[in-house]
Amino acid sequence: MEYRLIDGKSISTQIKDEVRERARKLKAKGVEVALAVIQVGSDPASSVYVRNKKKACEYCEMGSVSHELPESTTEEELLSLIEELNRDNKIGGILVQLPLPGHIDEDRVIRAISPEKDVDCFHPVNVGKMCIGEPGFLPCTPAGVIELLKRSGVSIQGKECVVLGRSNIVGKPMSMLLLRENGTVTVCHSKTADLKAVTKRADILVVAIGKPKFITADYIKEGAVVIDVGIHRMDDGKLCGDVDFDDVAPRCSQITPVPGGVGPMTIAMLMQNLVSTGEME
Ligand code: NAP
Repeated sequence: MEYRLIDGKSISTQIKDEVRERARKLKAKGVEVALAVIQVGSDPASSVYVRNKKKACEYCEMGSVSHELPESTTEEELLSLIEELNRDNKIGGILVQLPLPGHIDEDRVIRAISPEKDVDCFHPVNVGKMCIGEPGFLPCTPAGVIELLKRSGVSIQGKECVVLGRSNIVGKPMSMLLLRENGTVTVCHSKTADLKAVTKRADILVVAIGKPKFITADYIKEGAVVIDVGIHRMDDGKLCGDVDFDDVAPRCSQITPVPGGVGPMTIAMLMQNLVSTGEME
């Protein structure tokens, strides 16, 4: 089958351009928006993510302040920095790069961020609002998937949507957002009895299981739209997803590549959440 690539790079640039316009309008009204990024320790992958987030703020003409704390930082020290940033009127969004070192309780840290500044949308208050359909921040990676689908002309309403994975960051919120778009949603996980039987029903399959090239053509219905959230670095240094792209693509109508699919969307949606903090009156 002739498949179309869903181009996350160009769609994410389009979104960041829209965010930059919104940031310029705010600036014209005297409102400056800035993100505070906190990194504890110096995990190389986290450092790359943090750098990319700062670059995206620059691109969108919004401010960013980074706090690089040593691995030995205590939970109390981190919580008191968050408290300070919660009170700082110049800071619109606060982001704590995960994972944190083992001696720090991530849940406690997430809950310490003021829900109004929680641009990652991890705070239970924001997760709850998203579930009941109240306006507010949207979780970045799942919201990025919805934008990819919409801007690639895929209608979600009435479609069989299967989400593979139920993590709090991707799978669960993904299923809620697809439901909000009137998809008929099934969520699969490691205890799902017959995974292939379920994934083969999917018109839209979103894969977030964290296993390189796990999904092969025999999991796919002919003509499905496949969104691959996974990111893995292989031994040869190349990136791949949870989907075996070369095997699966010929059965699809549309599919995201890795890299250049969901990856760049996460930061674009973070920028969208950030600019919205300046628009809340
Ligand atoms: P995670 O927390 O490890 O969750 C994996 C989920 O997959 C779990 O719900 C697990 O089920 C399920 N699973 C694992 N093996 C399975 C199997 N054999 N059959 C069926 N289900 C299975 O992962 P995550 O944080 O959601 O991330 C998933 C992937 O997305 C990773 O590759 C990660 O790097 C990537 N990611 C990308 C972005 C981005 O910006 N593009 C953002 C976040 C994550 P149980 O719940 O039963 O254990």
